[in-house]
Amino acid sequence: MKIKICGHCEQQSKKHRNGTPHEHLLKFDEPRVFIGNGPKGYTEQDYQCLTCTSKFTHSTNKRDLTWTLWRG
Ligand SMILES: [Zn+2]
Repeated sequence: MKIKICGHCEQQSKKHRNGTPHEHLLKFDEPRVFIGNGPKGYTEQDYQCLTCTSKFTHSTNKRDLTWTLWRG
């Protein structure tokens, strides 16, 4: 099933570094904090778009994409 995403989210999905959430993208849940080895933990935060209800996960893990769009 294909979901239609709004223009803001289309742009959001292309942000890789230092991207800030677009104006209709709100925090959806509590942040998840992952403690790594030593001080290098990272945080994941879910966001949901008010316009098209697309969900994103923002991660501070440098090995992941910064913004991940959930499809399906
Ligand atoms: Zn959207």
